[in-house]
Amino acid sequence: MSGAISFKQVSKVFPPDTHALNGIDLDVAKGEFMVVVGPSGCGKSTLLRLVAGLENPSGGKIEILGKNAQTLLPQERDLGMVFQNYALFPHLSVFENIAYGLKVRRESEPEIRQKVNLVAGKLQIEELLNRKPSQLSGGQRQRVALARLLVRDPSIHLFDEPLGNLDPQFRADMRTELARMHRANPRTTIYVTHDQAEAMTLGQKICVIRDGQILQTGTPDEIYNHPTHRFVAEFFGSPGAQCIHGRIEESEGQSLEFISESIRLPLPGNGLPCGSITLAIRPENWVITSPENGHLCGKVKRVENLGDHRVLEVAIDSTCVFVKSSRVDIKENTSLDLSLPYEHAHWFERYTGKRINF
Ligand code: ATP
Repeated sequence: MSGAISFKQVSKVFPPDTHALNGIDLDVAKGEFMVVVGPSGCGKSTLLRLVAGLENPSGGKIEILGKNAQTLLPQERDLGMVFQNYALFPHLSVFENIAYGLKVRRESEPEIRQKVNLVAGKLQIEELLNRKPSQLSGGQRQRVALARLLVRDPSIHLFDEPLGNLDPQFRADMRTELARMHRANPRTTIYVTHDQAEAMTLGQKICVIRDGQILQTGTPDEIYNHPTHRFVAEFFGSPGAQCIHGRIEESEGQSLEFISESIRLPLPGNGLPCGSITLAIRPENWVITSPENGHLCGKVKRVENLGDHRVLEVAIDSTCVFVKSSRVDIKENTSLDLSLPYEHAHWFERYTGKRINF
């Protein structure tokens, strides 16, 4: 796949001194579905608005379909954008809202009618074509905003938290529909969200941003199983990976141990550097075992029942760890022996948060 959108060392400063984006390097391949995810205020919308031409970069270069974006007016970028607030024209009917972009392109009336009806059928909004946006529910407005983008079918699709106002069930349905539409017609897409589950289910690639900087870009599997920054490990998952700060020390016999305030774990290998370190482990990776096989023993403080599984909060002295389990027999205040599968442990530099590979 050749690159459709590329950011090279892009920065954006809002006066007087808000550094919304710093040194962004990002490539979105032609036809790729890229999800940009991160906490509120990290710069996601700014990144999208730069692609749309609604903002100009303060530094660096953006290329769109091989052309320097600085030389392209917004209307020359062959892209469409769906915002969280839909941005429909309130005085136009649903039909006119969807048809707007085609009218601007001066397409013929019969052609416009045929295209609008086709996309309205796909999104099941044929009955609504004569209504005004004020007469629609949030979910219906969402579909109209999507229809408006799909009917024009630009080369680049930009989404800014488009499902943010929907209830969870409808949100899940729309997610499935978006993924299906992209499979059927793979347009280059950048999709902004702060929802890690949405990023995992929709993205072919995920770009994680924090404080205006990219921490990691990769496939959902790379992001989940090989986080290159502690923040990424903690951000993905429900609950996310849990971090325990401690030290690696050499014990008698020269094997290594991880030692934290309340945890002492012998380590099988010798590759980790001695000194301060952060251990991150996902709740589903702890193994509940017998006293003779356990590395740690704790007391179950709380059991959260999520139907198909439970999340156990287990206190090991002053440290609480979260453990996911499908077992239904574990009750509060019982003792639990846990072992740590080392292949699932993630290690990060204590002060920079960067992954330690060994
Ligand atoms: P959210 O998820 O809350 O929408 P975001 O990740 O999309 O957040 P941005 O909207 O890109 O974040 O904002 C990044 C930073 O830039 C924030 O600190 C924000 O306050 C600031 N910012 C955004 N637009 C402007 C503007 N026009 N003028 C000044 N500061 C701005």
